[in-house]
Amino acid sequence: MTLKIADVAYRWPGRAAFSLTVPHLSVATGESVLLLGESGSGKSTLLSLICGTILPDQGKVDIAGTDITTLSGGARDKVRAEQIGVIFQQFNLLPFGSVMDNILLPLRFAPVRRKRAGDATVEASRLCAALSLPLGVTRAKATALSVGQQQRVAVARALIGQPPLIIADEPTSALDANSQAAFLDLLFGQTTTHNTSLLMVSHDRRLGERFDRVIRMEDIAQIERAAA
Ligand code: ADP
Ligand code: MG
Repeated sequence: MTLKIADVAYRWPGRAAFSLTVPHLSVATGESVLLLGESGSGKSTLLSLICGTILPDQGKVDIAGTDITTLSGGARDKVRAEQIGVIFQQFNLLPFGSVMDNILLPLRFAPVRRKRAGDATVEASRLCAALSLPLGVTRAKATALSVGQQQRVAVARALIGQPPLIIADEPTSALDANSQAAFLDLLFGQTTTHNTSLLMVSHDRRLGERFDRVIRMEDIAQIERAAA
């Protein structure tokens, strides 16, 4: 699937007075792109615009041929659920759910993705095995796991049902170098197999060599802040 952004502008309401303009950004089918940028440069804001959790003041955000800015909030939620697997910096696992509950969660709002997953419980177990999570772990509470295991659960949750786009917001920033490499091995192992597009945000330029393309926030976006 293709992601295309054209002439997007967004300004956070209220006193923050942070505005972001992105003239153009695209990610091709199966392409892996690393987006580098300093803290506070608007990376997470840009990912929220791509995911449709916030709506730009102007411009187009095209996800697999649909400009999501023309859709209602409910329809945008649906596009996100079907098309995008999201990995957050802090993993955002449900504290009250089991590992299995967490992995199956995105399928609840995405019938096409659910269908693609087949028997969802079997598919979740397969993903756990592929990600070297012990099988017995699926019934454990997600928060009872080690950080390394939680990270794998977050990857499995993003990958289940093979969404055509994976968005990852600094997923390795809390990890040491070895765990970072292992994390990327897992992620790339799956995205390469399924020709999944990947857009990952980081402030660590050393990760760049593993991606098809590296772009910098300062080259693709203009930001403005009101003087304090
Ligand atoms: P990055 O991910 O690159 O660190 P962010 O997109 O999170 O940058 O934040 C950029 C700026 O946008 C922040 O410094 C802040 O001014 C503003 N901002 C981010 N999130 C919010 C929010 N939820 N409400 C208001 N302003 C926000
Ligand atoms: Mg951020």
